Amino acid sequence: MTSTAPVTKQVGDFRITALQDGAMMGNIGLMPDFDEAKAQAYCDRMGVEFTRKRMTSVNCFVIEGPGGTVLVDTGSPPDFNKDAGKFPEAFAAAGFKPEDIDTLVLTHLHVDHWGNMLRREDGEPFFPRAEVVVTKSDYDFNHDDAIFAGLNEARQTAVTRARACCAPYTGRMRLVADDAEIMPGLTYVTMPGHTPGHSGVLIESGGEVLFIFADLAHAWFWQAPFPDWSVLYDLDQKQAAASRRKALARIVENGWPCAGMHTPFPGWCRVEPDGDAWRIIPEI
Ligand SMILES: [Zn+2]
Repeated sequence: MTSTAPVTKQVGDFRITALQDGAMMGNIGLMPDFDEAKAQAYCDRMGVEFTRKRMTSVNCFVIEGPGGTVLVDTGSPPDFNKDAGKFPEAFAAAGFKPEDIDTLVLTHLHVDHWGNMLRREDGEPFFPRAEVVVTKSDYDFNHDDAIFAGLNEARQTAVTRARACCAPYTGRMRLVADDAEIMPGLTYVTMPGHTPGHSGVLIESGGEVLFIFADLAHAWFWQAPFPDWSVLYDLDQKQAAASRRKALARIVENGWPCAGMHTPFPGWCRVEPDGDAWRIIPEI
């Protein structure tokens, strides 16, 4: 997908740079409650062709501001899919070096977000100086052996890998409460369900705002008009749907411009109300 939108945005004192880790295929089969008749009727109303698959992006964001240089998420590892895993190249091409990052903020501990915390060549931390911030709720979920024992094999594999990414950062991880302030101007907005501590990052400076809504919508085209259509990756699909509704309403109520990890690159978008639901409109 080609974009003409600028990859940087100024939000008060913060300069935000979007980085593309790559692409990801969205498939309606990932949403167990997908209703094809409703979907078709929606497409007819919108004048858009119905498609079962839609290519979307894996995005990360660098925030440069008064509190230093912050990276939000790290993209995916090389085995995630053949079209992604390009974070190291995108990061370098944007002029950043690993030692530039003062703070790594994770929206949650999933593979396409922790994927480049470690260097591919030697498994050492990719970011030699960064403090790593994550919600305590997400960290604890991934580090509790009793919870681990109850997970299916695929989730156990994912948690084992998440633990391996966190371990070398021991001593420089900051676990924070849901909805906590990360630093002046940056605040987590926790939207549990996708994972227990899944959180967006609200950037506020000089009267300007940008809400990085993380994985609020994996299928941006479908999940705002049909917020109850959660994806198989959601740990608690009902809770994810409730969080999605609450966050979409809050975004519209406050008129927050947004950025998504899985909205078309560079990820910038806005949310509009549509009857008793919403629409996500990518800025591309
Ligand atoms: Zn994701």
